[in-house]
Amino acid sequence: MSETIAIANQKGGVGKTTTAINLAAALACLGQNTLLVDLDPQGNATSGLGFSKNGDYPSVHQVLVDLLPADQAIQQTSVELLDILCASQDMVSAELELASVVSRENRLFKALEPFIPVYDFIIIDCPPALSLLTINALVAANRAIIPIQGEYYALEGLAYFIEAINKVRESINPNLQLEGGVLTMFDIRQTLAQQVKSELEKYFGESLFKTQIPRTVRLAEAPSFGKTIFQYDARSKGSEAYLSLAGELLARRGWKGMRFNNN
Ligand code: ATP
Ligand code: MG
Repeated sequence: MSETIAIANQKGGVGKTTTAINLAAALACLGQNTLLVDLDPQGNATSGLGFSKNGDYPSVHQVLVDLLPADQAIQQTSVELLDILCASQDMVSAELELASVVSRENRLFKALEPFIPVYDFIIIDCPPALSLLTINALVAANRAIIPIQGEYYALEGLAYFIEAINKVRESINPNLQLEGGVLTMFDIRQTLAQQVKSELEKYFGESLFKTQIPRTVRLAEAPSFGKTIFQYDARSKGSEAYLSLAGELLARRGWKGMRFNNN
């Protein structure tokens, strides 16, 4: 039975897509059959894995709006054990098209339900808004991971977002739990980053991932080549960090395969 994890934060540019791509790829590297769902009309996870967002093949848009069965849209990626449900540019209109349909918050859940026995993990990359698409992700998911950039204003809006997760749990999806926060683009030398880290430790407690994702240019470069960090530079600090994050996630589920990198 798969776990469905939404990578979400209504704040933009905090490392959601980088985390969704590389956490999904790391889970696949660790032998987990994984599906990455690109729910962001920007399609950064789609292009980051080397797929076109020009509607060359069916996307999550058709799945949500036209009720196309997801198996007709899921694509194999160049990473073994990693599949993708791509976004397309026409998804910008998906919000509007979904606004008037029945059970509009349930569409993604219904589409992914047949795949729960198929994949070990379904990872959903969310847009930077608390929109109907993000609500669809939170309704489909049983866990949410919130990437947080180690910088000023990082905590702004966080309480509001967590409140939204609580509301979805209370009203539609009792299975939804906060898996935790993960510090991204972390620069250990910056005092500010250290301050954000200690704030987050207070805020999240045990659920804050011990793994921090460092700021490294290799992580920023990889998507422009349509590659995961493991394909682009397997020996980089970024690849080590995302492998450690996946290991930590699996260890929370009793997996004893690897030790962590606590930085
Ligand atoms: P959006 O809200 O627009 O969807 P996002 O939260 O998905 O953004 P990303 O696209 O993952 O954020 O990252 C924002 C930018 O920062 C991108 O250019 C990305 O390449 C870069 N970036 C992400 N993580 C790192 C990192 N650890 N080190 C260096 N650059 C990073
Ligand atoms: Mg993104």
